Amino acid sequence: CGIVGYIGHRDAYPVIIKGLQRLEYRGYDSAGVTLFDGKNIHLAKTKGKVEDLKTKAEATIPTNGKLGLGHTRWATHGVPNDVNSHPHYSNSGDLVIIHNGIIENYESIKQALIKRGYTFESDTDTEVLVNLIEEVKNKEGVKLGKAVQIALNQVVGAYAIAVFDKNKPDEIVVAKLGSPLAIGIGENEYFIASDASPFIEFTNNAVYLEDEEMAIIRIGKEIKMRKIKDDAIA
Ligand code: GLU
Repeated sequence: CGIVGYIGHRDAYPVIIKGLQRLEYRGYDSAGVTLFDGKNIHLAKTKGKVEDLKTKAEATIPTNGKLGLGHTRWATHGVPNDVNSHPHYSNSGDLVIIHNGIIENYESIKQALIKRGYTFESDTDTEVLVNLIEEVKNKEGVKLGKAVQIALNQVVGAYAIAVFDKNKPDEIVVAKLGSPLAIGIGENEYFIASDASPFIEFTNNAVYLEDEEMAIIRIGKEIKMRKIKDDAIA
């Protein structure tokens, strides 16, 4: 399983596809990519290989866009199929998430969200997390980083996640507990990946998140690193 993300001045798609191929050694059963083209988000995902994803993406979505997330999935909750593949959207369609790991208490959170009107397309624990983040964000009226932090404090499990809001496409929020996550820092661009191999050709300036650490990555700004258990996120 693997994660690749990009935000900056390049087309994200080739960076992501090549990056996912470099992470293939980690094992996976499905792959997906989401791209923000400046106006809309586009999603392609499929059971199978990164090569299958490439074929599908190039046939079905515009592959331009300077912000994108890519994922290879090793299914833990829900069979390997197209719908269960990542990325996953929140109910409003505004938030997009990729996740490696397991949300152990996803079932109770899912039932609570269903009672409050949320619906689910997939059988994954991941789709529960993105909707929990959305609910927190709307209910508490907080920014995405804070919403991710509050949501993760309600979660038991392991994760490397990357999330963005299509209404704020200059920012990606990432967090880690158990699964690896690295950030590559370029000039006016950031890379996210499970290890540095997807971005070593672009930068050798890398930050590895510690467990229980999260980062708010915004174009034109320094990375904000935070402890998930801290109160300090504004
Ligand atoms: N638990 C998530 C799922 O089954 C993520 C699995 C992974 O690490 O790829 O969809």
